[in-house]
Amino acid sequence: MEDKFGRLEERKRMVERLKEELNISDRVARAMLKVPRHLFVPPQYSSEAYFDYPLPIGRGQTISAPHMVAIMCELLDLKPGHNVLEVGGGSGYHAAVVAELVGKDGRVVMVERIPELAERAEKTLRELGYDNVIVVVGDGSEGCEEFAPYDRIYVTAAAPSIPEPLVEQLKPGGKMVIPIGDAIQELYVVEKDWSGELRKKRWGSVRFVPLVGKHGFRF
Ligand code: SAH
Repeated sequence: MEDKFGRLEERKRMVERLKEELNISDRVARAMLKVPRHLFVPPQYSSEAYFDYPLPIGRGQTISAPHMVAIMCELLDLKPGHNVLEVGGGSGYHAAVVAELVGKDGRVVMVERIPELAERAEKTLRELGYDNVIVVVGDGSEGCEEFAPYDRIYVTAAAPSIPEPLVEQLKPGGKMVIPIGDAIQELYVVEKDWSGELRKKRWGSVRFVPLVGKHGFRF
């Protein structure tokens, strides 16, 4: 059986491996089975699109490894209808997986600071019909006030600390997943309770490109 994007068998094998290794939920597995990762990577890496490692997407940036996308989606506990902010949209792949999980009644606002990458991501997302993803070019360390507040926020670049605007734009009862650190990075799950207090839990060590911006690292 093939689907309209092709390479379904490779995608199935990737998802089966993730299920075995990480015990990911059926919901996240189904979402990842739907998104043709090979259309989000540059043509020269297309043959490697279903291997479980990051790949270059240009301008020194990378598309996260499939297991990292799966883990972050699990930690976020995404529900249909959620309004989600992604900081560090890159290729648009992670946004597409999240778009599957929040459905037509939900929305993903993807902020990417490099215009060239944002344009390519937008083109891919439009061609695949992800109308519930809004692509914004800008400094996502400031969040995106226009579409706030968010049920969920995730950051796919490592920050020196949790950017204050992201805390402000997170709804009470909301969740954020963010890598913190420089040479050594840890992934944090941050929950904002109904009184606005933050609870932070450390998930484990990770490796991301740096968040560059006003509330990120400045270069
Ligand atoms: N989630 C992406 C991974 C991209 S890597 C994917 O699925 O492909 C992280 C991205 O964060 C890079 O594209 C980088 O340009 C971007 N980035 C770094 N600092 C940023 C900032 N302050 N605002 C928005 N994007 C940023």
